[in-house]
Amino acid sequence: MDHTAGHNTDPDQTEELRLSLEKLETAVNTTPARGVPKPLFIAVAALAMVLGIMAAYLLYFDRDYQRNLALAHAGYEHASQERDEAQSALTKVQDELSRAQADLAQARDTIGLLEEYSLAAPDGTVPEYTRLYPDFYAPAWEGEAVTGGKVCCLTFDDGPSPNTGRVLEVLERCGVKATFFVVGSACSGQAGQERMRAIAAAGHTIAMHSWTHDYKTVYASVEAFLDEFSTLYQYIYEVTGVHPQLYRFPGGSINGYNRGVYQEIIAEMTRRGFVYFDWNASAQDATPRPRPARDIAADCLKGVGRELVVVLAHDSAARGTTVDALPAIIEGYQNAGYTFSALHPGVTPVTFGYPKIR
Ligand SMILES: [Zn+2]
Repeated sequence: MDHTAGHNTDPDQTEELRLSLEKLETAVNTTPARGVPKPLFIAVAALAMVLGIMAAYLLYFDRDYQRNLALAHAGYEHASQERDEAQSALTKVQDELSRAQADLAQARDTIGLLEEYSLAAPDGTVPEYTRLYPDFYAPAWEGEAVTGGKVCCLTFDDGPSPNTGRVLEVLERCGVKATFFVVGSACSGQAGQERMRAIAAAGHTIAMHSWTHDYKTVYASVEAFLDEFSTLYQYIYEVTGVHPQLYRFPGGSINGYNRGVYQEIIAEMTRRGFVYFDWNASAQDATPRPRPARDIAADCLKGVGRELVVVLAHDSAARGTTVDALPAIIEGYQNAGYTFSALHPGVTPVTFGYPKIR
């Protein structure tokens, strides 16, 4: 036996052994690991990480979130408040707009009236009478306007007369101021002048009612009307020191005699600053025979219920029963809650509506 043979290196055997060893290593390396598969493990780990980050985010940012929520809520409240304020501002503007629209409509009406009663002819020329009587203009009125409440204004036309003193006594006793629309022909002469001064001294209003009270003369033309009234205007001033501002048409602003001229008269007298008053209650005392005081009072009291009553009565020698009726008239209105006022430009004019003549 060759013992050394066993120690001899056979190249083939070595190669065979090396290959077997490689196979074994390969087999070891490719054997799958036991336990959790790798992809699932990664997925779980990633999910856990995401959840962890979210939790950290929530914990960390929760305070900010609450604060932002409170801020947002406050912002909402503020916006609501601003919206309410804007809404009320809008309502206010809308109110102002409707008021302005009403004013505009009124202004348009006034313009229409001015155009309708304009003194100027279409070519712009004005009537000659506008240049007459340069001193016949009403003084400016600076008193207080009478607004609201029940007010009764007693007026006495055609005076002064022998009854004026009695009328003044009753008014004085009752603490009532009234208005006297005087006629020139009745107030000329010593007695007439003294009665005029007594009226003015007692604080009543003296107003104009023409010089002649003759319809055909007064309403013959605009010039005729101006002539009578400017004469009376100057006369009242000379006797009493008072410039009258008010006038009343003989027969009222609309009557059977002035149809052709009254609109022009109103326009011209208004231009000169004068205010006219008709009436809305009447003593009905311009009758051929005097009426009983009781009936006169009853007629005068028919104005009860109106906000502003202008009572027409007459101050003339034949109207004694009118004076007799005065205490009952005054008491009747006082019992109905009225106060009395003399007329002045601050009292809303009571005038008859006049038809439009084209
Ligand atoms: Zn009269």
